[in-house]
Amino acid sequence: MTARRPTHLPGTTGRPELMVILGSSLTVIAILCIVTFLLIREHAYAQHTATRSATTIAQLIDADVLRTVELYDLTLQGLIAAAQRDDLKQVSPQIRHLVLFDRSTTARFKGDILLLDKHGDVLADSSLIEPKPGNFADRDYFLAHVFNRDTGMFISRPFKPRCDCDDADEWRISFSRRISSPTGEFLGVAVASMRISYFEQLFNSLDVGTDSTLAIINDEGFLLAQKPFLRDNTIGTNFASRPNVVRMLKERSGTFEGVSSVDREQRLYTFTRVGNLPLTVIVALSIDEVFATWNRTAIVISGATGVLCIGLLWLAWLLCRELRLRQYAERELAQLAATDSLTGVANRRTLDQALRHEWFRAQRSTQPLSLLMIDADHFKAFNDRHGHQAGDVALRNLAEVIRANVHRPADLVARYGGEEFSVVLAETDSEGARQIAEHIRLAVERLPLVGADVLPMTVSIGIATWTTASEITLEQLLFSADKALYQAKEGGRNRVVCAG
Ligand code: GH3
Ligand code: MG
Ligand code: MG
Repeated sequence: MTARRPTHLPGTTGRPELMVILGSSLTVIAILCIVTFLLIREHAYAQHTATRSATTIAQLIDADVLRTVELYDLTLQGLIAAAQRDDLKQVSPQIRHLVLFDRSTTARFKGDILLLDKHGDVLADSSLIEPKPGNFADRDYFLAHVFNRDTGMFISRPFKPRCDCDDADEWRISFSRRISSPTGEFLGVAVASMRISYFEQLFNSLDVGTDSTLAIINDEGFLLAQKPFLRDNTIGTNFASRPNVVRMLKERSGTFEGVSSVDREQRLYTFTRVGNLPLTVIVALSIDEVFATWNRTAIVISGATGVLCIGLLWLAWLLCRELRLRQYAERELAQLAATDSLTGVANRRTLDQALRHEWFRAQRSTQPLSLLMIDADHFKAFNDRHGHQAGDVALRNLAEVIRANVHRPADLVARYGGEEFSVVLAETDSEGARQIAEHIRLAVERLPLVGADVLPMTVSIGIATWTTASEITLEQLLFSADKALYQAKEGGRNRVVCAG
């Protein structure tokens, strides 16, 4: 081992950085989860509120229509009861007219009220004392009563009246009841028509927003009224085949989100049956209007959350960068503190620590531990000949040669001081250490000659080895290596001497 190199370089990720990345990522995920949860909840709440107000509107329409239809039904029942009184045949036409249509005055948006005989001919007309001749045997309500005695009160399809009157263009629907004899025989029909503008007036009294619609359809899918009218929608159009209408007629009441088949707008449909009548009220709220507030809130909150999360991640990135730089600076400092600045090998302090560490490791493992003390021969004279700068270069070359001849990761090359180096060889006996020392000595000898020198630079090396057989201390090991080095110098230099 030479001087220890940094194990983490800038760009690699350490544990504190991982914690920062993990912490900030979890925080961002938590914020996103909470915001998403809140937005989903608010969305559901907006839909719930819209559904509730749509249901309220539908119930208001429902109640008003029911009351109106009830009035018409009372009118019809009064007319039938009066028509079946025998004593009315004797009175004058004026009195008879008064009695027959006595109860019809209260009905709103009332059109004509007629009494038809079993052939569909007009017997009495609420607007004329002497009725105009006319036949209505082809009308849907007449046919409904002829063929079914249990029809009860029948609500017709929308129609326009067959008269030259001013409001002949105005759509109407009619309410009718069958007149039966006590034995159930068909005697005729009492029918009251109502102008459809009743629904328009009713819808106009309710505010549902510009893109939302109110509508009422009958069980056959005919549109009776709508506010506002959508493109190509008119009263009397049949929508029975449209998927939304199919669903509403089938389920009778409920709420769903769907696309209008007329204008392709997404709407929230709330629909309900008008009592037991064959009518369905539809409140179709525009999704854009229902979620307008939510959309604005969602944009603001999402934007703010996005900025917050990006800010958090940016801060985490800055923190990671600072941590990385600090770790790198610390490692650089530690590296500098452990290294000899001239030669780049470990310094004396690192040598002392490593030698102590390897000493105790050797004691535990009982493996031999060798120490080389290497000293440049006649280096003072070298300096004198070539100058201190050339001496420094020679010391660097010497350190490089020693380093090149020490291969195991646990081995350590250090500058002991001046022109003296030490090598700690863990798990190496004296023979192994001697071989390494010899390689170093020969390699130094082979270094190129400096200046006008005729003799190469040489080193003397002293070796001391600890084994389980030798009972010495660490200080004694150092002393032995030093002593062996002295002997090598004494012996003529450029040689290796093993202690003991
Ligand atoms: P010996 O063979 O007995 O070891 O003789 P020597 O001259 O090498 O030994 P001595 O201890 O008398 O001198 C060591 C010299 O090493 C003294 C000094 O000029 C030189 N020296 C020590 N440290 C440095 C250094 O960092 N740079 C340079 N250029 N020379 C150094
Ligand atoms: Mg010396
Ligand atoms: Mg020397």
